[in-house]
Amino acid sequence: LTLEADLRRAIDEGQLEVFFQPVVSLDTGLPTGAEALVRWHHPTRGLLRPADFIPAAEESGLIVPLGQWVYRCAMEQVAAWDADPAMPQLQTIAVNLSSQQLRERRLSLQRQQVVHDTGIDRRRICVEVTETVAMDNSPATRRTLDSMHRDGLQIAIDDFGTGYSSLAYLKSLPVTTVKIDRRFVADLGASPESGVIVAVIVDMARHLGLQVVAEGVETEEQRAMLTAMGAGAAQGFLWSKPLPAVEFADWWARSAVTTKAAPANR
Ligand code: C2E
Ligand code: CA
Ligand code: CA
Repeated sequence: LTLEADLRRAIDEGQLEVFFQPVVSLDTGLPTGAEALVRWHHPTRGLLRPADFIPAAEESGLIVPLGQWVYRCAMEQVAAWDADPAMPQLQTIAVNLSSQQLRERRLSLQRQQVVHDTGIDRRRICVEVTETVAMDNSPATRRTLDSMHRDGLQIAIDDFGTGYSSLAYLKSLPVTTVKIDRRFVADLGASPESGVIVAVIVDMARHLGLQVVAEGVETEEQRAMLTAMGAGAAQGFLWSKPLPAVEFADWWARSAVTTKAAPANR
């Protein structure tokens, strides 16, 4: 209960911060985008990670204002980077959405407003939903996913491999990307079965025309195995942990070479 009261205040008093973790192309070795991950500067408990407060936020419904705040904050940051000539172009920005954020049309409209306000091309936005959420048979969730897909957003299934996906159902969903859960990546090389699971997910995704992002890549060996499997993209401590916006921008400017298109003469 204390956590819930604190969290309510945190949103109003600006104690939340969005960190960014780079996503890297395994084919080129270059970073292509980032995932927005929330942090909480708690006045007495210090810097809290999502595991410490997302469950309470989900239970209390505070995940809705929190999640919508993260969405706006991430898009505004990307718009600011777009306007900064020293910052190489970020192709994709990924944001996590909880199931409660998918059920209400009002919340979709709010997010569309953010996209409109910031002027970000919808095709650069990737919304991440967990496998369990994507597979739930709620018509409201399905409507939101369909409408985002029609609008051109990318949709990723997060933590893929940990839920109970029906492959047939996955094929029917408007999904563009699967993110392989880091538990499978973690023992790549250590256990032969794990390598098989990752290889099968990568293969399946390729046959369904989906992109793959492998999560939690920490070692060169994992990177090499994933590249050989054709995983496409990855994120993990091997490149960078999630960073505050200013540090992320430094990292990005050092690592990315993608230049910005000259501003169009309009
Ligand atoms: P996720 O979406 O699966 O995010 C990836 C998590 O893996 C992040 O944890 C990230 O810091 C961690 N990670 C990345 N690379 C590595 C690595 O190489 N090794 C290890 N051991 N870990 C790595 P984080 O930031 O603590 O977030 C945890 C979860 O909290 C996220 O998992 C996501 O489900 C949730 N979350 C974070 N921000 C939001 C948000 O704004 N809204 C919602 N609904 N959920 C969020
Ligand atoms: Ca995620
Ligand atoms: Ca994940």
